[in-house]
Amino acid sequence: MSTQMDTFFHDVGQGDCTHIEAGEPSTDNWQIFLIDFGFKPGDYPGESPSQSTLIVLVDRITEISIERGKNKPYLDHLFITHSDGDHWNMLANLVTGTDENGDNLWEAKWPDDTTLEIGKITYGGEESEYRNKGYGWDTIKNACRTPVLPLGPAAHDEMLIDETVTPSWPYLNGELKIYLIGANIPTRASRDPNLKSVMLLIEFKGRKLILLGDGEAGKFYENYLEGWYPEDSNFLNCTAVKLGHHGSRSGTTDAWATATKPEAAFVSSGYGYSHPYCVAIRAIRSAGTIKNAFYHWLTCSDGLNHPYGQQNTQENIFSNLWYVVTDREVSAENNAGKIKKKSYGMFVGVTYLMQWFDDPNDDSFAFSPFDNVWPGQNKPITIL
Ligand SMILES: [Zn+2]
Repeated sequence: MSTQMDTFFHDVGQGDCTHIEAGEPSTDNWQIFLIDFGFKPGDYPGESPSQSTLIVLVDRITEISIERGKNKPYLDHLFITHSDGDHWNMLANLVTGTDENGDNLWEAKWPDDTTLEIGKITYGGEESEYRNKGYGWDTIKNACRTPVLPLGPAAHDEMLIDETVTPSWPYLNGELKIYLIGANIPTRASRDPNLKSVMLLIEFKGRKLILLGDGEAGKFYENYLEGWYPEDSNFLNCTAVKLGHHGSRSGTTDAWATATKPEAAFVSSGYGYSHPYCVAIRAIRSAGTIKNAFYHWLTCSDGLNHPYGQQNTQENIFSNLWYVVTDREVSAENNAGKIKKKSYGMFVGVTYLMQWFDDPNDDSFAFSPFDNVWPGQNKPITIL
């Protein structure tokens, strides 16, 4: 039996959305997990990329659920890191399948009035924070088969004296381990929703991915995680990390890079808050562990009064905010040999896919697998 884990780092503009498929593709031993789905409206001129993400999620959940013989579209586990809208304001649309025209997308492959069923929901903070936001909390909660309960204060999976940690959520007969490494810091009712983010370490076949939501390493690592998971235990050493809080200034620190030693880093942001900050990109590089794959654009900013700057890099640092056109027209050839152009002030977002297979050296990265407009593999990208 050959299993794999596919992680999709979606482009939702200023917001966050990651989904994971794990197990044996096209069999009933195939599961799907979603960590956040939201965006900040008004951040994109024209259509929000969260609409195309909605279509992709409906499509992936449908394919997996049908292969598993489910009678409804089914999501195994939904994690909502915290109550900020840019992390969950699209979830009610996903449950009901409602797109921007009001159509039910589930109905393409399922009976009329189909809605999503969710196996389990885990969220950060207090339930009242969600109920007050007007993003359809009850619709989401009612889609869940199991009780939806809050986590405790400073919740995390404990490391025992022999340095073992038991994951809160084992899946696929223990082949997939989802550890809770932090949530509700310092308490469930504390004021800063970002630090209450559910922070996850996901382990599959000896590789690890860390997702922080809007948790900021500058605030949680030295005060909490460093004590819970001492550096010499190597528990936090990972293959990939998503930068905390959209690549904010204090979301990533040199100490966090040293503790995690990532080979790849991802970040999700839009254009408008200077995310991702170049200082966060430099910090995650500081441990010297990031590997190289294919050429791609990476853009970052040094603050609100500084323009974005792009690098054409082979480093495995992947931002959905791929390119911001700050000077001349940019042009690239797509897979069909067509030249696509973007002019000043426009920006290009992409979704990244990271795949882990049986061979631990066989990691694979790709981007925009559903819309191969912007190339970049194996060659430097040129600006005309
Ligand atoms: Zn956020």
